Amino acid sequence: VELTEACLTQIEGADALGAFVHKTPEIAMEQAKAADARKDGGDLNGIPLGIKDLFCTKGVASQAASGILDGFKPEYESTVTTQLFNDGAVMLGKLNMDEFAMGSSNETSVYGNAVNPWKAGGAELTPGGSSGGSASAVAADLCLGATGTDTGGSIRQPAAFTGITGIKPTYGRVSRWGIVAFASSLDQAGPMTKDVRDAAIMLKSMCGHDPKDSTSADLPVPDFEAALTGDIRGKTIGIPSEYRMDGMPAEIEKLWEDGTAMLRDAGAKIVDISLPHTKYALPAYYVIAPAEASSNLARYDGVRFGHRAKLDAGDGITEMYEKTRAEGFGNEVKRRVMIGTYVLSAGFYDAYYNRARKVRALIKRDFDDVFAQGVDAILTPATPSAAFELGKKFDDPVQMYLNDVFTVTVNLAGLPGIAVPTGVDAAGLPLGLQLIGRPWEEGDLLNTAYALE
Ligand code: GLN
Repeated sequence: VELTEACLTQIEGADALGAFVHKTPEIAMEQAKAADARKDGGDLNGIPLGIKDLFCTKGVASQAASGILDGFKPEYESTVTTQLFNDGAVMLGKLNMDEFAMGSSNETSVYGNAVNPWKAGGAELTPGGSSGGSASAVAADLCLGATGTDTGGSIRQPAAFTGITGIKPTYGRVSRWGIVAFASSLDQAGPMTKDVRDAAIMLKSMCGHDPKDSTSADLPVPDFEAALTGDIRGKTIGIPSEYRMDGMPAEIEKLWEDGTAMLRDAGAKIVDISLPHTKYALPAYYVIAPAEASSNLARYDGVRFGHRAKLDAGDGITEMYEKTRAEGFGNEVKRRVMIGTYVLSAGFYDAYYNRARKVRALIKRDFDDVFAQGVDAILTPATPSAAFELGKKFDDPVQMYLNDVFTVTVNLAGLPGIAVPTGVDAAGLPLGLQLIGRPWEEGDLLNTAYALE
């Protein structure tokens, strides 16, 4: 109860961050009291968390930061939040994000942007996106951890921008049931926390087979925290040459070198590796993700959920669809739906969508090959820069998409990836490194990250 009250007080004083879009103090206090009364509570019992607005929470507004889901209060609870609450976690409220998780700066939200608690000079910085509210809330001590989702980097990039830890598990590790779908073959939920140990504890609660998600894997969930021995002697860490991009800032280069040295000093073997199809990942991602989004978002038609436009006399069902979608979706979402519809259309399907799927298979094969050669994990920068100024890239989608250059490969290949804060830039802003692991070996990945933090 005291911990929850302390978080609620912090949240009240932090409205300027725009992290929480719905606060649920009554639910939080009720859950906190129940946690205190529980005699056999585990590690998450009574721990106050923030929940990304993409998760359906029963009876609590769940809008994916979109106008089209205005007023939507689900009748059901997502599997992830059900599991967290069963383990005693407390929900402080819902967290800001990019609309339908489409973005890298939290600026496409219907609620307005979230703000990074870190500052350099006077300008306000983005906390990253799409899980910007989650990152901002954890970094500013508004909660002890938060849920995030990651389709192309939305857990790892905001974690890196705010100096926190975030892990995207292997595709299929966490049930997607009750999480608003963006690109179903890429979406995975994961924890965003202060450090690796918290991530291990929270991830364990979020994982597990769910018959309600046919892509969720029927595998036992290991005790990830028990894997944190800090011993990485004899592990092989690959450094992929293709991630050394032209024009990479010297401070990112140095961060990467320092991280490599740290792992070497801890007893790991460092090897140079090649992932030859890396340069095609971003274009393939920005075909596949919009294609799946255009299909997933077809359900927002003014009939089943949320917003419906006011109609004029004589309007038929087509006008209702058109007006509702025109009013309800923001520009980035419309851009994705248009791109997605285009690449799936009869004349272009083979040229774009099918080709992107083939590229995706090659990217996955690159990773399979290096893992087959004995590489245990791959170390890369998490982002090409530190957090940038709000407004800076908003009008230039290509610049915005380039943020995801180090993260999208991991989703295309379905692998686990973690971002850990390991340094600061010249202005004192946090920078993070990314570790990419073998499928289903999150415990090993978390342990390597543990050696790095
Ligand atoms: N920034 C990427 C995009 O806009 C990734 C988003 C995500 O992971 N949800 O698609």
